[in-house]
Amino acid sequence: MAVRATSLALFLCAIVLGAGAAAERPGAPARAASDFPAATDVRLGGDESQTRMVVDFTQKIDIRAFTLADPYRVVIDMPQVAFQFRPKTGEKGRGLIKAFRFGLVMAGGSRIVIDLVRPARVEKALVLDAANEQPARLVLDLAAVDREAFMRTAALERAPEMRKPEPLVEDKPDADPRPLIVIDPGHGGIDNGTRAATGEMEKNIVIEFSLLLRDKIERTGKYRVAMTRADDTFVPLGNRVAFARARQAALFVSIHADALRRGEGEAQGATIYTLSERATDARAARLAEAENQADVIAGLDLSSEPKDVAGILIDLVRRETKTFSLQFAETLIGAMKPSARLHQNPLKSASFVVLKAPDVPSVLVELGYVTTKSDLQSLMAQEWRERTTDSIAHAIDTFFTTRLAGKGHN
Ligand SMILES: [Zn+2]
Repeated sequence: MAVRATSLALFLCAIVLGAGAAAERPGAPARAASDFPAATDVRLGGDESQTRMVVDFTQKIDIRAFTLADPYRVVIDMPQVAFQFRPKTGEKGRGLIKAFRFGLVMAGGSRIVIDLVRPARVEKALVLDAANEQPARLVLDLAAVDREAFMRTAALERAPEMRKPEPLVEDKPDADPRPLIVIDPGHGGIDNGTRAATGEMEKNIVIEFSLLLRDKIERTGKYRVAMTRADDTFVPLGNRVAFARARQAALFVSIHADALRRGEGEAQGATIYTLSERATDARAARLAEAENQADVIAGLDLSSEPKDVAGILIDLVRRETKTFSLQFAETLIGAMKPSARLHQNPLKSASFVVLKAPDVPSVLVELGYVTTKSDLQSLMAQEWRERTTDSIAHAIDTFFTTRLAGKGHN
């Protein structure tokens, strides 16, 4: 589905429906950033009762603003633009704006998501023509309101329908009997993930690693590989899971890079996570919470998400899936130990949303800490990447060879 949405409705639907499809054509030529209108500067003014945001653009574009609660956010949707702001733009806000981020939410659509200090109303959201030697510019005026007024407005303006991701049904059953491995590079687009002090971003580290891993697995000739994203696009967490389930993936491997927050001490090395409702420890629980924030960061409305439906059948399948996930995690640790540095307790579990497919064995790999100097050096080194992707590809092969031979130890 080559989405070059001009209509906002199409664009918003496509966020849900198109995420997986876009990732299936990694070979499609990407349009250069210079093909898109650019956002060149942003300025904030005002105080905690009224705040204005002004964004300069190289040409006039259509926008749409809406609000989301819990946490209080203002989302501005626009066609794809190239953001050319200074580094660290948006990390600190002013007045009603706590912070903001910006980026692609899908091919063809960009977004600015503003975190509010308190509930606020959008008084004005428009784009002015270039005039009097001023560039075209977006003007957003916010005014403080109480929660009740905020909730009323949010309900009235109906945030764009974010439907539950629907499994994408293949047109014809796949004749290729080889097991399908889904690689899931974390974050992407507007969601940068963690960031090193020197600026390296998780979303870029994991996509490069994942593309290399894909090549290594494909080279064995024994497996098919699909990626939940193959470029710098945001993919909602639910879509990543739906993508793997719809294709009846034999294995789902999510790739991330962790960061230590202040007060968390020092740590280094890779950790493999499997799903469990109760986390191994408090640190693992906090990590899952942070990773599960991706949809909130990207400004999706989660208030209407249906809860998981559990059934006895699902529980049985889930138990088997859990066994296979653990088995793979252990195989992975065995394969990575000699070549990549592992965390001192490399096998943990917590409640990660992306690991919740009841019928697809799934693990999440935190390759290392972008905040730990030696880990960051490894993550950026081609030699380390080659070695580590080799060991993961090897683990995948061992896992399936063992399973297919019926020698599983469950
Ligand atoms: Zn992550």
